[in-house]
Amino acid sequence: MKIMAVNAGSSSIKFQLLDMPSEKQITTGIVERIGSDNASFTIKFDGQKYQKTTSILNHGVGVSIILEALIEHGVLSSINEIEGVGHRVVQGGEVFKSSVVINDQVLQQIIDLGDMAPLHNPANATGIKAFREILPNVIQVAVFDTTFHQTMKEDAFLYGTPYEWYTKYGIRKYGFHGTSHQFVSERANELLGSNDTKLIVCHIGNGASLSAVKNGQCVDTSMGFTPLEGFPMGTRSGSIDPAITSYMEKKLNVSSDRITDILNKESGYLGISGISNDSRDLENAILEGNERARLALDVQAKQIVDYIGSYYVYMGGLDAICFTAGIGENSAILRKMIADRLGVLGVELDERMNQLRGENLISTANSKVKVYVIPTDEEVMIAREVMSLQK
Ligand code: AMP
Repeated sequence: MKIMAVNAGSSSIKFQLLDMPSEKQITTGIVERIGSDNASFTIKFDGQKYQKTTSILNHGVGVSIILEALIEHGVLSSINEIEGVGHRVVQGGEVFKSSVVINDQVLQQIIDLGDMAPLHNPANATGIKAFREILPNVIQVAVFDTTFHQTMKEDAFLYGTPYEWYTKYGIRKYGFHGTSHQFVSERANELLGSNDTKLIVCHIGNGASLSAVKNGQCVDTSMGFTPLEGFPMGTRSGSIDPAITSYMEKKLNVSSDRITDILNKESGYLGISGISNDSRDLENAILEGNERARLALDVQAKQIVDYIGSYYVYMGGLDAICFTAGIGENSAILRKMIADRLGVLGVELDERMNQLRGENLISTANSKVKVYVIPTDEEVMIAREVMSLQK
């Protein structure tokens, strides 16, 4: 059975076609710069890559181009081979506690939740509409970034703000990257041979978040009402004293939107180092003796460890820490910086294993907490959700 996993942005559609239940990736691709005369379309399969530049004025045209290309390149003999489409949706609020089959009402609810995620939900909805129009008889499923975190209790998800902010305006911690946290924690439980576990998943990519997962359920996470909360990321500041925003508005004589923009796009690795938002650039700069590049990683590692300590106490212990995403999977340096700060919890890194690529146990046999690298696969998670709702 072939299932398509889709991640639609305001001017892009990323997709992956998977064979299920084998979970084998058949094709990946992306349509970029939708809305322009020189939009680009890239598709990869069987180790080959095809790219073309063409006019793609809206998401509907983008979806048609994707489906035509799959047939043209012989990946599909007919679009009827696609038996389900799973859409990544960023904000599910408290409305969606699990993935859901999309109908008109669900689509409207996703659009309404755009109030809380204006950069994401409207774009996700545009992608859904385009696929529904072109594949009206195929099951379409919404898979939310937030639902995995819906098991958090009030003491973990509430802020210390007036309670009416929560009841009237939905101000609470929602958490994001849920499909990744779910995929990695389920895999860790497979590796540990038990569901009765206490895990911390460190999803560290350009965007980054931690989750505390007890007995397979999320009990806390570092991102909040938006993906800006947490520890410093590629370009995001993570949590700061909220009073800084109005102070800096006055100092810089800019609007609050501009401050939010700086906190989202000009902070984190980029803001502290002044060099780059890419950990590879920072690691190279550190080798050349750049102190601010080291500081950027030090600040991030310190704050990640703050969360780990807090989750250790909240869960009453810890069986495993799992690193995933672009940096978590690839940066042996950052993993070591974090593990070295966790000696007090009995964490002991196996330096040789830490240098390897792919899924690995990277702690020593003596370590009191196991440390894993587990490559994430959000598309497989989306396809699994489609499968589970298809029956
Ligand atoms: P993601 O958001 O999960 O796609 O992660 C993207 C980030 O991962 C990039 O900005 C880099 O900082 C980092 N990254 C990707 N590949 C590597 C690598 N081989 N070594 C270190 N960092 C990497």
